[in-house]
Amino acid sequence: MSRVYNFSAGPSMLPEPVLQKAAAEMMDYEGSGQSVMEMSHRSKVYDGIIQGAQALLREVMGVPDNYKVLFLQGGASSQFAAVPMNLMVKNRKADYVLSGQFSTKAFQEACRYGDAKAVASSKGDNFSHIPEIDKSLCRPDADYFHICLNNTIYGTLWHQLPDTGGVPLVADISSCILSEPLDVSRFGLLYAGAQKNVAPAGLTIVIVREDLIGEALEGTPTMFQYDVMAKNDSMYNTPPCWSIYMCKLVLEWIKNDIGGLEKMGQRNAAKAQLLYDFLDQSKLFKPCARKDSRSMMNVTFVTGDADLDAKFVKEAASAGFVNLKGHRSVGGMRASIYNAMPVEGIEKLVAFMKAFEGGNG
Ligand SMILES: *Cc1c(COP(=O)(O)O)cnc(C)c1O
Repeated sequence: MSRVYNFSAGPSMLPEPVLQKAAAEMMDYEGSGQSVMEMSHRSKVYDGIIQGAQALLREVMGVPDNYKVLFLQGGASSQFAAVPMNLMVKNRKADYVLSGQFSTKAFQEACRYGDAKAVASSKGDNFSHIPEIDKSLCRPDADYFHICLNNTIYGTLWHQLPDTGGVPLVADISSCILSEPLDVSRFGLLYAGAQKNVAPAGLTIVIVREDLIGEALEGTPTMFQYDVMAKNDSMYNTPPCWSIYMCKLVLEWIKNDIGGLEKMGQRNAAKAQLLYDFLDQSKLFKPCARKDSRSMMNVTFVTGDADLDAKFVKEAASAGFVNLKGHRSVGGMRASIYNAMPVEGIEKLVAFMKAFEGGNG
């Protein structure tokens, strides 16, 4: 068996021990005589899985007791609408920072439900950094303040959270969830599609402070109402059963094999450092994100020559380093190095890049 190093931005690699455990349990989950994909979500055995996943997520992320953890569907993109429908309800106002494509989409969606305001943007610099915020533009009576913590397409990360005063901070953490410790109590709401760092696609995680779950806007579909989902323990309808099971296995891997988020963060920082150190001294490859905004999960770089970029992506794929092509909207290259990417994958990629530079410099 030969597995590639998959640098895809998502869906992405899963830890090998997790895939092996899932394979071993495929035909007969813990003596139930069936696979997790086949069992009733109302069964006792499945209840153990979903409750276990939730308890582990709380433990690993240190989620305070006054927060609900919801297992939803529809991807992070559905939350672009669900967040305003549920939270933009008191003053019908919310402030958004535009730091890339996803935060822009979130903002555009919010505009459909109330008075959403873009208070800062780095679009003029092709989103190569986290924008500076002019506090005088932010509204103290906004229902929430929205950011995208890690910008998957541009390879940038908020290294310091904005001070929003009393306004609840809402963050899209799709591409950095579980990558390092995060102080959940600083946020009113966190959301993430699972397919980058948590599980296969199909599961969307929402972590929301209880007091923010209230009456949703008139006309909000039942499936989008946080209070309905919270009251029903994410089981108002059939949840994404298999994805939740895989999420549980990934959390067990982080807790038991890695040793928790502190360790996970150290490991990810070391991995990113390897790649950025190489890029910083390379004569051929140039990193795209501004130094103070660099992401630990998505590393973007270019040669400056589109044909050479394409040649690199093609030769890398033949050598077993797949999905290094940058997002279709920005070009160049992007190495997504989520939790499951082993350090050897990056060491070998850097060796390959050195050799490519030697042959094309
Ligand atoms: C991938 C991604 C999304 C889109 O997620 P879907 O689950 O496909 O809707 C949104 N935000 C960020 C930061 C992402 O990385």
